[in-house]
Amino acid sequence: PLTLLKDPTLLKTDGFVNGKWIKGKKRFDVTDPATGQTIADVADLDPRDVKNAITAANAAWPAWRSLTGKQRHAIMMKWFQLLMDNQDDLGRIMTAEQGKPLAEAKGEVSYGASFVEWFAEEAKRVGGETLATSDPTKRLTVLRQPIGVCAAITPWNFPLAMITRKVAPALAAGCPVVIKPAELTPLTALAAAELGLRAGIPAGVLNVITGTDSAAYGKVLCESDVVRHLSFTGSTEVGRILAAQCAPTVKKLGLELGGNAPFIVFDDADLDAAVDGAIASKYRNAGQTCVCANRLYVQDGVYDQFVKKLAAKVGKMKVGNGFDEGVTIGPLIEDAAVKKVARHVADAVKKGGKIVTGGQKLSGQFYAPTVISNATSKMLVAGEETFGPLAPVFRFKTEQEAIDAANATIFGLASYFYARDIGRITRVSEALEYGIVGINAGIISVEQAPFGGVKQSGLGREGSRHGIDEYLEMKYLCIGIA
Ligand code: ADP
Repeated sequence: PLTLLKDPTLLKTDGFVNGKWIKGKKRFDVTDPATGQTIADVADLDPRDVKNAITAANAAWPAWRSLTGKQRHAIMMKWFQLLMDNQDDLGRIMTAEQGKPLAEAKGEVSYGASFVEWFAEEAKRVGGETLATSDPTKRLTVLRQPIGVCAAITPWNFPLAMITRKVAPALAAGCPVVIKPAELTPLTALAAAELGLRAGIPAGVLNVITGTDSAAYGKVLCESDVVRHLSFTGSTEVGRILAAQCAPTVKKLGLELGGNAPFIVFDDADLDAAVDGAIASKYRNAGQTCVCANRLYVQDGVYDQFVKKLAAKVGKMKVGNGFDEGVTIGPLIEDAAVKKVARHVADAVKKGGKIVTGGQKLSGQFYAPTVISNATSKMLVAGEETFGPLAPVFRFKTEQEAIDAANATIFGLASYFYARDIGRITRVSEALEYGIVGINAGIISVEQAPFGGVKQSGLGREGSRHGIDEYLEMKYLCIGIA
C-alpha cells in the first residue's frame, strides 16, 4: 500500500532531531496489523538522542518565542495546508501502520490538522491583563509567556491527532517540543514532521524520537530540568508512572488517560438515533479510542428492541483490511488487544452474558464486532476498558440507577446518553461525573471544545481556547510608579 503514495518522500524512517534526520545505531520494524507484514524499518534511537533533542529544543526556544504570534501563525497555517494537501498520503500511511479503515484515517488527518489551524489562529490571541489597583502608587499587569521546552508522549490509536493536539498549542504559545510517538505508529508522526519542516518550522522547534525503549526515553524527558511540561495520552497505568517521575522536577502535566465510557439509552430516546450513536461511539477504530462507549445501559422498556436493532446493524459491519472498499472494522493493533477482547467476552459469557452477534476471533488480528446482552456489574467489562469491538448491554429501571452505575468507576473521560425529556437531559448532564457528555450524539471530538477527563482519566484539557493555557505561564508584574 505504501508504494502507492503520491509523494513517496513522505515516508520517513529516521528520527528527527534539531532539523536533521538521524538514522540511529539500531533499527526496528513497523508492521501492518492487517497483514502482519513489515512495512518499514525505523530508527531505534538511543536515550542520549532524547537528551540531544532536549538541548536542541532549548537552544531553539529564544528565537521561536521571540517571533510574534502572527509570525508563528503564518508558519503553522502553512503546516496545516500541507497536512491537508497530503491528506490521501497521510491517510494511507496511517492505515498501513495502524489498521483503521482508509476513510477513517483520512478523517483523522483533517481532524488532526484542525488543531494546527485552530491553534495557529489562537497564536494571535495570546494577550495579558491589566488589573485594577488598590494602591494608587502601583500598577498591576499580567503577562502570559511560553512555559519552555515541552515533551509529548503519544499513543498509537490516533497517530496524527494525538500529536497535533499537543504540538499545535505548544508551538502557538512559543514553545519547542520533543515528541515521542508510539513505537507501533511512528510513520505518520515522521511524515507530519517532514511537512512541518517544509512549512518552515525552524530546526529544534519540533523533534521526533522514534524507537522502542519508551521507558528510558520517558525517564530522560521526566527527569530533565529543561523540560517544563509533559503531555501524555495513553494508559492510566503509564500516566501514573510518568506523574511520579515528574514530581521531583515539579513539571506541569497534561494527562489524557483511560476511560470507561457509559452510553445510556432512556426509554424516551429516539431508538434508531441511539443505535447509530452507539455504533459510531463503540466501533470507531474497532473500539480502540479512549472515548469509545464501553458500557451500554438501556432502560427496561426499550431494552429488547434496542438490543435487536443494534445487533442487526452490527452484524452487517464489514470487517477487513482498512484499504479494502467498504470496510468499517479493521484489525486490532496487536495480538494482546485481541486476547483482551476474547478475555472480556469469555468472562461475560461465564457470568450469564448472551452473545447476540459476533463473539469470535477471526483470522490474524481481527475480532468480529460483538454485542452481548444481560451484562452485569460483576463482569470484567464493567470495570475495565475493553478497547475493542465489544458492546455489553446492561439493563436498568430508574434514572438514578443509571446515573449511579455510570459513575461507579475510577474513570471520568467521556459519557453519552440518549433522551428527549428536557428535565431528564438537564438532570443527567449535571449528575454524570465526566469531562465530556454526548447528549443524543455519539461523536463528540472537535477542535473548538475542551477535551479531557476528571477523576483518574487525567489532568487538563486539550483543544478549545483553553488548550493553549497549558503551555503558558502567567507572570504578574507589580509596578511602583511613585
Ligand atoms: P496504549 O495502551 O495506548 O499502548 P501506553 O500507555 O502503553 O498506551 O502507551 C502510550 C505511549 O506511552 C506510547 O508512546 C508508549 O511508547 C509510551 N510508554 C509506554 N510505557 C512508557 C513508560 N514507562 N515511560 C514513557 N512512555 C511510555
